[in-house]
Amino acid sequence: MIDQGTIQRILDSSEIVDVVGDFVTLKRRGTNFIGLCPFHNEKTPSFNVSPSKGIYKCFGCGKGGSVVNFVMEHEHLSYVEALKWLAKKYNIEVNEREETPEDIQARNDRESQMIVTSFAQKYFTSQLWDSNEGRIAALGYFRERGLRDDMVRKFELGYCPSGNDVFTQEALKAGYEMKFLEKTGLTIKREDWIRDRFSGRVMFPIHGVSGRVIAFGGRTLSQDKKIAKYLNSPESDIYHKSRVLYGIFQAKRSVIQNDKCYLVEGYTDVIAMHQSGIENVVASSGTSLTSDQIRLIRRFTNNITIIYDGDQAGIKASLRGIDLVLEEGVNVKVLPLPEGEDPDSFSRSMGSSELQEYIDKNETDFIKFKTQLLLEGTENDPITRARLTTDIVRSVSVIPDGIVRAEYLKECSRLMNVREEVLYEELRKLKRKRDDEMFRREQRVQVHHENIPEAPNVEVKKEAGPVNNPCAIEEREVLRMMLKYGDQKLFEVENDEGETEVITVADYFISELDADGIESVDPVIRQVFQECDEHFGEEGFEPLRYFVQHPDSSVSQLCSNILSEKYTESQFWKKQGSYVEEEHDILYMLVPRLLQEYKLRMVRFLINQAIDEMKEAAKGDDFDRIVDLQRNIQNLKSVEKELSDKLGKRTINF
Ligand SMILES: [Zn+2]
Repeated sequence: MIDQGTIQRILDSSEIVDVVGDFVTLKRRGTNFIGLCPFHNEKTPSFNVSPSKGIYKCFGCGKGGSVVNFVMEHEHLSYVEALKWLAKKYNIEVNEREETPEDIQARNDRESQMIVTSFAQKYFTSQLWDSNEGRIAALGYFRERGLRDDMVRKFELGYCPSGNDVFTQEALKAGYEMKFLEKTGLTIKREDWIRDRFSGRVMFPIHGVSGRVIAFGGRTLSQDKKIAKYLNSPESDIYHKSRVLYGIFQAKRSVIQNDKCYLVEGYTDVIAMHQSGIENVVASSGTSLTSDQIRLIRRFTNNITIIYDGDQAGIKASLRGIDLVLEEGVNVKVLPLPEGEDPDSFSRSMGSSELQEYIDKNETDFIKFKTQLLLEGTENDPITRARLTTDIVRSVSVIPDGIVRAEYLKECSRLMNVREEVLYEELRKLKRKRDDEMFRREQRVQVHHENIPEAPNVEVKKEAGPVNNPCAIEEREVLRMMLKYGDQKLFEVENDEGETEVITVADYFISELDADGIESVDPVIRQVFQECDEHFGEEGFEPLRYFVQHPDSSVSQLCSNILSEKYTESQFWKKQGSYVEEEHDILYMLVPRLLQEYKLRMVRFLINQAIDEMKEAAKGDDFDRIVDLQRNIQNLKSVEKELSDKLGKRTINF
C-alpha cells in the first residue's frame, strides 16, 4: 500500500488538464477545456475538463470523474496502479509497505519468468527474419497463407529452430537460468535430456493486457499427423490460460472506441481480421471460453459478438458461449459464417469494407440465432416449438438485469409468436424449480435441526486476533471446523441426474464463501482458505499434517494455534456439558449456523466500511460515487436483515 502522505502529494501534483492532455487534444473554452472523448466515438467534441474543479465529464457517454479516475479508466488500471502511474509522471517517489523476503522472492521469480519469456520472443522473431531456416520455413509459411509482413511484425510472430535444444542452449549462453526456462515451459528437462518445447514450430506470442509476452502458442510445420498441430505454453506463475485472451493487447483500444468486441477461435482468425482492418477482436485460444475471460472483455466493453465457423462444432461452441456471456451481464450477438468458412479464410476472401458490411448486416441477437437454428425445417412442429421456448427462456433467465430480461422476452414473444405472459410463466416456473432445489437443500439441514435442542444464547469475549480483522473469531472457527472435520459428510443432496451427492464440511464452506465472494482481510487466513480449496478432496490429503507442517511459518503458526487452543470450542459455542464431546455429531447444525454468523459479521463490517467511504465522498462533489455508495449500503442492509432474520433471536452479540 502507498502511505497517505504520498497519496496526498500525488493528488496535489496531478494537473488534470496536463494528464488528460497526454491523450486528448484539448481546446480552451471559457474556464474549461473541451476535446473529443477518448471513451466513445464522436466527431464533435463533448468531452469537458474543468481545471478548477479537477474533474472531467463527457456529455456524450456520461463518463466522468477525477484525474485518478481518468487514468484508471483510460489505462485500465486499479486505483493504486493509477496513483503509481501519476507518481511516475510527476517524479514522486512512492514508499510502499515493506515487502517480506517471500514477497520479494515471488516477485523476482515472476519477473525472471517474464524476462526469459521476453527474451524468447525476441529470439524467435529474429530467427524468423534473420535465419535461413526461419525465412524459408516459417516466413514462407506465413506468406503462403496470405499474411502480410506488417501483420507478422505487429503480432511479433516468430520461429523456434528445429533441433533438440537450440533455443535452450542459446538462452543459457545469454545467461538465463534453467530454472526459469523450465518454469515457463520453454524448456522440458528430464534426468538425462533437455528439449525445446517448441522446436520446429512457428510461434505466436501471447501478450497480457499491458503488452508483455506471457506465453506462446506454437504451430507445427510438419505434415506428420502424430504431431500435435498446436502446442501452448503450460500454466505458470505468469500465465493462467483461463484468464487470458489472445489479442487483447492489440485489440483493447479499438474495443473501447467501437464499444464492441468480436470473439473468434484461433490465433490466425485474430490476425486475419486485423489484416482486414478490424482490430476489436480476440480469441479464447487454447481453452473453451471462461467467465474470467468474459470479465476481462467487460473491462473494455459490454458488447460481445461471437463469430463462429459455419460447421456443427462451431455452432455448438457458440451456443455454449452464449449463456456464459449472458450470465456475466454482457450483451451478446452471434455472427454465423457461411458453411465451410472460418474467420481466417472468410476475411481473406473479401475486402475490409465488405467484411465490416457483412458483419453489420448479419450479426443477430442470440434469440433470433437460436430460433432460426432450432426451428429450421420443423417450423410447425408444436413440440419443437415448446422445447425451443423453454430453451430460450432458460438462457434469458441467467441474465442478471431485469430490464434486459424483459426486452429479450418481448423479442422472443415476437419471433416465436408466443404471448409474453406465457414466457413469463415459463420464467417463473424455472425460477421456482431453482428455488425448490435450494429449499430442499436447506430443508435437509433443518429437519436435523428439529431433533436437536436449540443452541443456548452465546456470550463470547473478543480475542485479540490479527490486527484489524473484524471477523477474526468467526474465521478462525471456520478454519478449525474445516481442518478438524473438513472430510466429514455434512449432508446429502440430489443432483440433476437424481444421484445422491455427499457434501462435506469443506465443500460446504468453500462453495458458500466462494458463491458470496467472501474473503478474509487477513492474508494468512486467505491463504489457508485458498489452499483448502485446492487440496480438499485430493487423494491422501491430511489437512492437519499439511497445515501444521506448512513451509510458511505464519500459516503453520496460525493453524497450530487454532487447533491447539481450547478457546475456540468454549469461546464460540459455550456449550452445555455434553455438547463439546458431541461436536462432531451435530456438524449439520453447527456448520451452517457458523457460516451465517460469519456472513453476518462480514456484512456488518462491509456496511461500516461503506458508511465511512460515504462520509469521505460527501466532502467532495462526486455525486455518482455517493449514489453508488448509497445503493451499495442499501443492498448490504437488506442482506444483513435477511441473515439476522434467519439467525433469529440466536444472534450473537460480541
Ligand atoms: Zn464520451
